[in-house]
Parts: sequence; C-alpha cells; structure tokens
Amino acid sequence: METKKGYQLPELPYGYKDLAPFISEEQLTLHHQKHHQAYVNGANALLDKLEKARTDGSDPDMKALLKELSFNIGGHVLHTMFWGNLAPAGNGDNKPTGTLAKAIDGEFGTFDRFQKEFTQAAVSVEGSGWAALSYCRLTGRTLIMQIEKHNINVYPMFAILMVVDVWEHAYYLDYKNLRAKFIDAFWNLANWAEVEKRFKGL
Ligand code: MN
Repeated sequence: METKKGYQLPELPYGYKDLAPFISEEQLTLHHQKHHQAYVNGANALLDKLEKARTDGSDPDMKALLKELSFNIGGHVLHTMFWGNLAPAGNGDNKPTGTLAKAIDGEFGTFDRFQKEFTQAAVSVEGSGWAALSYCRLTGRTLIMQIEKHNINVYPMFAILMVVDVWEHAYYLDYKNLRAKFIDAFWNLANWAEVEKRFKGL
C-alpha cells in the first residue's frame, strides 16, 4: 500500500533567540520543540490508528478519535500560522498597510479599535486558546475569532489571517500567569507583511 502523508513540524522562519526580549529563547524553544511537536505527533498517531483499523477491520471509537484529531490538527495548523505571523521586533511596519489596512479600517473603524478588540478577545479566552483575525468569504469582512483549545468556536471556512497563542505554555516562562503582558509583547512581533500576504492570497 502507498504510504500516506503525515504532518511535520515546520522549521521556524527565524532563530530561537530572535524574538527576545518579547519571547525568550527558552520559551520559544520549548513551545516549538515540545508543545507544537506534541500536536504533530498526536495527529499522526491518530491517522495511524485509523489506518490500522482499516487494515485489521476493527472499529475505533470514532467520536473520541475524531474529537482528538480535530484538537491535534487544530494545534498543528494554528501553531504553524502563529510562527509565520511573528517576526523579530523592528523588522517592518508595526501596523498593517495597503489593502489589509483598508479592510481593517473598513471593519473596525481604526487600527487602534481593531487592536483593542483583538487584545480583549485574546485576554478573555476561557482557559487555553487563541485569538485570530479571520476573513469571511461570504461577506468580505474581517472578523475576530476567539478559539478555545485549538478547535472550539471556529467559524467554518473562514480564512485565518493572524493568530496569537494564549495557552499558558506560550508565555509562562516569560510572563508567569500574566497573559495581558504577553499580548502587549505580541504586538511588537506581529508580522504584518505576512498577514497582508495571506490576505492578498485569498
Ligand atoms: Mn502553543
């Protein structure tokens, strides 16, 4: 039988030290090599389990398996997006430009208002999760999505343009339990050129 493709941990587009002081080398290394890797491994193990069941004709607990698969694939995809929408501080604009800036202003009124709403969404995620800037293909509007865990409250089929990870594992070494301080730091690292590229690529 042909070997089917699994998931792989992507390389970071910068070095582990490059996001300091906003994200320390130790924090970024653990986050990428341990936490993100765990979702890659988890998703691949579940795909193997499905494959094995097809081979031996057994029936896995589909409800439990698919719930776990959604969690692990969500974790992998969101972390991959997150690394891409971060960049070392001072590399580029600290605000969106061009068509993305127009879209954000059109939806939120001003960039400051967007930043305020996004920060509030990120700070208030219940438990572990993400804040995302997303795009609705039906209306052409940019909307904030607040994701719990890696997969709950997702708007289906919306394109995700930018995410911030607010699981404690993203910031506990640098900021302890102070999520709001981590969000402040995040704004120094937002890679607007990449977010605009995603927006233009829709
Ligand atoms: Mn994470």
